[in-house]
Amino acid sequence: MSSVFDDLVGQEHIIDILKGAVAASRQGSDSQEMTHAWVFTGPPGSGRSSAAVAFAQALICPNQGCGTCNECQSAATGGHPDVEVIRTEGLSIKVEEIRELLTRVAWAPSMGGWRVVVMEDADRLTESAANALLKAIEEPGTRTVWLLCAPTLHDVLPTIRSRCRHLQLRTPSIDAVTQVLIKREKVSPAMADFAARVSQGHIGRARHFAANESVRINRKVIMQLPLQISSLAAAFQAAQTLIDLATEEANTASETRDEKEIEKLQEAYGKGANGRGMATGVAKAVKELEKEQKSRATRMVRDSIDGALLDLATFYRDVMMVQAGDAGLIINADMQTEVDGYASIISAHAAVQKMSAILEARNHLAMNAAPLVTCEALMCELARK
Ligand SMILES: [Zn+2]
Repeated sequence: MSSVFDDLVGQEHIIDILKGAVAASRQGSDSQEMTHAWVFTGPPGSGRSSAAVAFAQALICPNQGCGTCNECQSAATGGHPDVEVIRTEGLSIKVEEIRELLTRVAWAPSMGGWRVVVMEDADRLTESAANALLKAIEEPGTRTVWLLCAPTLHDVLPTIRSRCRHLQLRTPSIDAVTQVLIKREKVSPAMADFAARVSQGHIGRARHFAANESVRINRKVIMQLPLQISSLAAAFQAAQTLIDLATEEANTASETRDEKEIEKLQEAYGKGANGRGMATGVAKAVKELEKEQKSRATRMVRDSIDGALLDLATFYRDVMMVQAGDAGLIINADMQTEVDGYASIISAHAAVQKMSAILEARNHLAMNAAPLVTCEALMCELARK
């Protein structure tokens, strides 16, 4: 039988615990066995929020998480009255948002089972928001289960994390990601292996890479940049190319998503809507949504540039591997000749310096530096012999 836990790659140790908790949660009305607050941590791409959502589905599903029933499906798409998934596009989750959330979840679960709140970015809670949340978590006897997700345990306030059961996800192995792409996404073995390697165990990125030819073409262009920056002019050109490609990729992804969201919103208002009041309501809601979408688009472009820089870093990483005599471990196996050639013309010291330059550029971008200038400075550094 299929299960919502099937999608969690390389997390067998966690799946056992979650299944145990789901079984315990069914034992009569006495919920002593069931922990009401959990923290899921793990590196980006390990699937911490997927794990939390799967757990939420299993808790409300009559078949302990079959993945196919109405409950399971509506829980995953945000349509279940007892499951709330909080995703934030902003930089922080404010206390007002938490207060609003607490009002919404104050009611008993409509289906008589559990009410589940998944918070994907618990690391973005402001201190006052975290304190408001803490009070709710401490409240005894409720039927609400809190599933918080964060990169590490240090990103969660000590007072909150001490009341939560902690689950640490692992970065899945290249092999585990390859197998999932072959079995579940029906990707060819060669493509699956390549996608798993270049995304370095990040399952979401691996899927995206395997499914989109344009993403693969863009990556190819990015990976050629180190070989093309032989002059200052070429370095500036390379920076522009990187920004253009990353922006285009992010925009394509967000445009489709934006349109769907607006359609969905209008549909929601359209049901039984008539009269002028309703029209003003929908216009206002669309405007608000568009504002949110705009700030998300900015973030997606930044994430996309960061992804391109990570790709670029794999080239220098491979060069270092070859210089160290570990040619078998290179990520960009399709560029073996180029990597070998590059490894023979620069010193090991220069390769390390170029890797650090990329890391530094990523740090600057994370602190909101202007993308083009940051990439220009980086490319000049990479062009140096
Ligand atoms: Zn189900």
